[in-house]
Amino acid sequence: MITLSKTDYILFRECPKNVWYKIHQPDIYYKSELSDFEKHIIETGNEVELVARQIFPDAVLIEGRHEAAQKLTQEYIAKKQPVLFQPIFLKDNFLAAVDVLKFNQETGSYNIYEIKASNDIDKKRHFYDLAFQVNLLRKCGVKVGVINLMHLDSDYVRSGELDIFKLFKSDDITKEINGLCGEVAIEMDKALDYLSQEAEPKGSCCCIYKGRSNHCSTFNHSNPHVPAYSVHDITRIGLSKKKLTELADSGNFHIHQVPEDMELSVPQRNQIDSHTFDKVIINKGKIAEELENLVYPVYFIDYETFPSAIPMFDGFSPYQQIPFQYSLYVLESPSFAKASEGKPAELKHFEFLHAENSDPSRAFAESIKNHLGNIGSIIVWSKKFECSINKQIAERLPEFKDFIDSINNRTYDLMDVFTKQYYVHKDFRGSASIKKVLPVLAPELLYKGLAIQEGGTAASSWIKLIGNEISPEEKSKLKGDMLEYCKLDTFAMVRILEELEKVIS
Ligand code: SF4
Repeated sequence: MITLSKTDYILFRECPKNVWYKIHQPDIYYKSELSDFEKHIIETGNEVELVARQIFPDAVLIEGRHEAAQKLTQEYIAKKQPVLFQPIFLKDNFLAAVDVLKFNQETGSYNIYEIKASNDIDKKRHFYDLAFQVNLLRKCGVKVGVINLMHLDSDYVRSGELDIFKLFKSDDITKEINGLCGEVAIEMDKALDYLSQEAEPKGSCCCIYKGRSNHCSTFNHSNPHVPAYSVHDITRIGLSKKKLTELADSGNFHIHQVPEDMELSVPQRNQIDSHTFDKVIINKGKIAEELENLVYPVYFIDYETFPSAIPMFDGFSPYQQIPFQYSLYVLESPSFAKASEGKPAELKHFEFLHAENSDPSRAFAESIKNHLGNIGSIIVWSKKFECSINKQIAERLPEFKDFIDSINNRTYDLMDVFTKQYYVHKDFRGSASIKKVLPVLAPELLYKGLAIQEGGTAASSWIKLIGNEISPEEKSKLKGDMLEYCKLDTFAMVRILEELEKVIS
């Protein structure tokens, strides 16, 4: 029989089969290594827990999960140790460590504090996680008192020294968890039985009826009859359960097998038709209408930001984005028109990367103010993001408000051409992401060769850049990689606009 950890129990609740692979066939489950960004999420959880521990002075930390650590836990519990960090319990093949156990002299019981590095409570995960711990503690003879869930408070705004008592919110959820313990006890036994079976679970994957984003890493192994690009990749198909069920039940997994009379949204139908008939859908009139509103000089800008769980600087709340980098191209006049006259339009490039451990907001705002003129359209990809960062800068630095309002009013989202379906190519695969559009419109520009290939890694790179863990030489190389990545994101927009101009000329 296996030993069931609370992590695997929570995963079991999401999909039993998936955890079975995690335990019995890890080579199938762990297909790829964790990205830098995924590693950073784990580190964030650890960092938040370390900060939260400061609320509990004079605690004893139990290190490790091994037998000696379990024995030590029991000894401290027997001694009624006032506070324990990470006490580890094993009983009846269930295993869990508790973030904080605090002894209450008056009641003679231990209060539990579970620390979560999130702003919100996730009842489906956090409550079941705690009920697992409570059941196990009771099995081990520990008297459980108040059950608390500690999480970050999104209303907290740092001002001066970090106020850990305001940074965290602690919710007493004793009643809710005690009410859940019976159900969880039954489920724990079920999970243990299921996950202890040696034979690979038979039967179909219920994800066959869910969109691609729900599929786990073992989907292809369990469903070899489903092609790599399938009806599960149709944009927003996961929201149309009835249609996906109809397609899956009839065995129509290839995109070209979607019946012509199936009622679909315009983007869904365009995605299927562009693939099935290998055609490019271009609405020249509409693209021209979009682009004729552009005012030159045109500014192409892209921001990189870091969402720090623990606010690093004054004015920031948990997970509020810190803008640390931008890349900007300025195009004085329509590029293609000039290029066709043999006079390529002048393209200027500016960039900013804050490489110190301090709030970049002011230097960032001053730098963009220096380079963005008072007239001219500002082109971004997915404007909601850049505009919200701008607004937050204005909240922290009100003297920039008029300037920020002006740039937000002049911002144009180049992605609109693609989300509005004015240009559809089969290789976009129903997406309007720049990573999908660029290889079609400007295949000479590739992210592949870059050391940094996506925004998440760029964000976690900044922490390395301003920290003390890497050498000056490594920092210099990292800085170059970060600048190169952001520059390509911006130049990609220049090239996409240029290609759109060619299309409508
Ligand atoms: S693909 Fe879905 S149903 Fe199949 S194992 Fe993964 S999560 Fe479970």
